[in-house]
Amino acid sequence: MYRRLGPRRTAILLAVALLAAGLPLGLAPPAASASAAVQVVLDGRGLVFDVPPIIEEGRVLVPLRSIFEALGAEVVWEPAVGRICARRGPVEIQLLVGCRGAWVGGSVRWLDVPARILGGRTLVPLRFVSEALGAEVSWDGALRRVTILSGGGPPLPGNGVGATVHFIDVGQGDAILIQAVGGSAALIDGGPVGAGGTVVEYLQGAGVTGLACVVATHPHADHIGGLPEVLASFPVDKVVDPGVAATSEIYSAYMDAVEESGAEYIVGRAGLTVDLGGGARLRVLYPAEAPSDDSLNAWSVAALLDVGDFELLLPGDLPSTCEMEAAWPADVLKVAHHGSSTSTSAPFLQAVDPQDAVILVGDNPYGHPAPATLQRLKEHGTHIYRTDLQGTIVVQTDGEEYCFNVGPWYSASSGSSSPAGGTGSGGVTPQPPPQLPPTVRYAASRASDKYHYPWCRYVGSIKPENLIWFDSPSRAREAGYVPCSACQPPWE
Ligand SMILES: [Zn+2]
Ligand SMILES: [Zn+2]
Repeated sequence: MYRRLGPRRTAILLAVALLAAGLPLGLAPPAASASAAVQVVLDGRGLVFDVPPIIEEGRVLVPLRSIFEALGAEVVWEPAVGRICARRGPVEIQLLVGCRGAWVGGSVRWLDVPARILGGRTLVPLRFVSEALGAEVSWDGALRRVTILSGGGPPLPGNGVGATVHFIDVGQGDAILIQAVGGSAALIDGGPVGAGGTVVEYLQGAGVTGLACVVATHPHADHIGGLPEVLASFPVDKVVDPGVAATSEIYSAYMDAVEESGAEYIVGRAGLTVDLGGGARLRVLYPAEAPSDDSLNAWSVAALLDVGDFELLLPGDLPSTCEMEAAWPADVLKVAHHGSSTSTSAPFLQAVDPQDAVILVGDNPYGHPAPATLQRLKEHGTHIYRTDLQGTIVVQTDGEEYCFNVGPWYSASSGSSSPAGGTGSGGVTPQPPPQLPPTVRYAASRASDKYHYPWCRYVGSIKPENLIWFDSPSRAREAGYVPCSACQPPWE
């Protein structure tokens, strides 16, 4: 369906929305916008903020805590992951810094302007959060005044269709969490041996209490290594794998864990479908029968996630010898085999025609991702995202549009790549992953003395040859670095 929420489309949507609504909250003459203050009145009472409201793209942004508390909501801000959770009664709102998708009462909603961090403060779009909590909002351009009437009514209902997909940074390996709106969750692979704990923690952080389905694409350690811990930590309904055995120790541990979990064990063959609710469906495309190539990679269970008109192709580690059998048009491609040169051929890309591609990869001795594969993706005009340089990558869709929590590492529209993700769609600063990344790493430049969260806007401008990473703040400080004042990473 190819409707990626890109900068131009967003700008048009915003312009149309502003025209249709008689310029709500917005677009004061440029001359005035820099100096004149914005006044916010809630139920007849003026609100005072410790940081003055700002106007961005015609939307008023205010400090997070003040507005939610004024509206009677409890708010939790998780700076390490850039997630804002607010709750009032039964209504829950989740916003991710820099991401245009937000969860409101179990639906994905789109923001014109995402929450952002400015001078170390988190600012949220005033109208969006107020309306999400059932308030009525109006804007008086002449007085530059926002008036909010907290009605306490229910938030606008969504269509109940949508999903969030998390490409979890597990180093060298695959682990992909799918959460359907109001429905269930599925996990495609569980990362390498040793990553089980971080996958479990990530799932818990994302609110997962059980899994409708776990797919072990093929029995290589970088895909099933973390699954024993996952299977021991959550109730799992179904485990799907290709039904081919490996001789490794980790394979025995995995099979034991499947047995102990009590999950239904299913050999995944083309045609198998798992309905996750929220309009999300996982469909196995491959294998139909035993592959001609007898490597374990060639046995990879390849699946397609469709949510309304949104399609994500998940081909495991499928090599080029078999990949055409799993070629299906998709908006987003999980690049097979960590970007290896022996997968993702030009004919496959032509058949899938992905707008965006995500590479799950970490430190490895194989040279993943291969320059040749990156080149093929670039030549096809596909945006590229990488977990090794950008951490956990998240996609949200409502079944019509979709958006990423970070800008692409390689942007097909500008034809350039940046070391840590560059700016997000619509000129948004680089953004954090929304949930706890398995390992928060800290980025720094050899040319400065500051260390940053990976999502800090300054990380995007560090030259690749100067970019270094630290596992902890103390390591960074030992090396003589101090915390960046913009993203404010911890001292310890
Ligand atoms: Zn493999
Ligand atoms: Zn692999």
